Amino acid sequence: MPHEIKPVNLGGVNCYLVKTGAGFILIDTGFPSKRAALEREMEKEGCQPGNLKLIVLTHGDADHAGNGAYLREKYGAQIAMHPDDWGMVERGDMGWNRKAKPDKMSIVFKIMGALIMFFSKASQFDLFKPDLAVDEGFDLSEYGADAKVVHIPGHSKGSIGVLTTGGDLFCGDLLYNMPGFFVADDAADYNASLKKLSSLKINTVYPGHGKPFSLEAFMKKKNRYL
Ligand SMILES: [Zn+2]
Repeated sequence: MPHEIKPVNLGGVNCYLVKTGAGFILIDTGFPSKRAALEREMEKEGCQPGNLKLIVLTHGDADHAGNGAYLREKYGAQIAMHPDDWGMVERGDMGWNRKAKPDKMSIVFKIMGALIMFFSKASQFDLFKPDLAVDEGFDLSEYGADAKVVHIPGHSKGSIGVLTTGGDLFCGDLLYNMPGFFVADDAADYNASLKKLSSLKINTVYPGHGKPFSLEAFMKKKNRYL
């Protein structure tokens, strides 16, 4: 099944509307404050209640999960997420299941988390319980896409990517396309996930932040987190 990818940049956070033969899959949802802009883009592509088959959240941070509850209600689509991040959206706590012991990275995280929650609270992040617990190998073909879930922890324990058979990877926040900007909760997990990706057939990476890029070119760069 062929698919078309429509990136939607919502104030620096990317969502991806994937058009398949069967309807649409939305990967990530942006901040609640960007809801109107997201809905405009969805409408432009013909995505409406009834043909949005699935919402995949690459992880539980509010800048990606922020419109999950609203979109599920309005469009009647189920929300798929890795169980290791569910507590984040059920409680509105981005530190849930992240490292408790402060180190350099987790302090950065705590500051970022507090800032993100501040902004998302200001625009009312609706807590929710996802519908589908997905993990490595979860097949999206019944939702119309020739794609599978890959579990790529590092940014959070329950971070997932969506990899199509054609080699497009939606990677959430494991990899950013922003200069010098990598945020890992767990460096060992992060490195293991990167190693895993390098063993897969991946051409283009569609990140949560920044423009799409080639994985091959990324792996050649010296200034990556590893
Ligand atoms: Zn993010």
